[in-house]
Amino acid sequence: MAQIKRIAVLTSGGDSPGMNAAIRAVVRKALSENIEVVGILRGYEGLIKKDFIPMNSKSVANIIQMGGTILKTARSEAFKTVEGRRIAYNNLIEENIDALVVVGGDGTLKGARALVEEYNFSVVGIPGTIDNDLYGTDMTIGFDTALNTVMEAVDKIRDTAMSHDRMFFVEVMGRDAGFIALRSGIACGAEAVVIPEVETNMNELHEKLLGYMNKKKTSSIILVAEGDDAGGAFRIKDALLKYGDDFDMKVTVLGHIQRGGSPSAYDRYLASRLGIAAVEALLDDQRSIMVGMIHKDIVHVPFNKTIKHHKTIDETLLRIVDILNT
Ligand code: ATP
Repeated sequence: MAQIKRIAVLTSGGDSPGMNAAIRAVVRKALSENIEVVGILRGYEGLIKKDFIPMNSKSVANIIQMGGTILKTARSEAFKTVEGRRIAYNNLIEENIDALVVVGGDGTLKGARALVEEYNFSVVGIPGTIDNDLYGTDMTIGFDTALNTVMEAVDKIRDTAMSHDRMFFVEVMGRDAGFIALRSGIACGAEAVVIPEVETNMNELHEKLLGYMNKKKTSSIILVAEGDDAGGAFRIKDALLKYGDDFDMKVTVLGHIQRGGSPSAYDRYLASRLGIAAVEALLDDQRSIMVGMIHKDIVHVPFNKTIKHHKTIDETLLRIVDILNT
């Protein structure tokens, strides 16, 4: 067992619901092992600026149900530089910190890997991002809550779509990944889903929607992942306008409401399990790994592996969207 007396925890990248539950689990598991915990504010930015706060059991009381992150989060350009990481490492050593737990997405894990490679410092990562785009874990913390948020919003939009016989293009988050669009599309009974992983054939999409309208469907919901070029849903709507049908088309961009809100039961459960697993991994002398959950089991995934591999979308789910519109 590794000799660990004091650890630090930070949240980084985009906030995601369940990050607080993860912080709570890290702190309480560490305290149960007589390990002191330091919280780092605003991710790697706070690590460089030495924005550290002591954490005890009370500091994480009553936060499991809160969205966002009590430690705040940030994106740090300085940490991407060798000099920034040198300052960060020195701060960890000056504060007698033996190991670090980071909660965040792909970029956060890249930063963590750099710290391990350059200083052989013990770092364990916890996947916290609404995008679910990390290889090596079935779900990332925040994804389930985001799906539920999208579902509730689309249910409301459908009321208007149905009442006015409208076609709604609902844009959801996912610059490079269509996980939110695809899963919530099935959950909302969407007529079509547009994701960045699969090139959209506008003729086929048009034929499909026309077919539904001819089958006396008077309204439709099309879920569109934002994609890397801004205006994903507007772009699709504009492209369909060119076919000259008399569809009454509207666009709704859900935006940042998808990040917020009280975490779902699943996200709280996942975050609690992964927070504890992260401290256990450090005690087991693991470093340079992300803890994840595959099926119901905790797994350790080397940073190199989760950064290198891309989680692939299950394209059969697109067929399921079509089948459910038969
Ligand atoms: P999300 O998926 O929610 O966007 P993320 O963790 O991928 O979360 P990023 O902004 O990509 O969010 O990364 C968070 C931070 O990690 C960056 O601001 C930066 O400080 C650090 N980081 C990202 N990439 C690297 C890298 N290649 N080397 C060192 N640090 C990095």
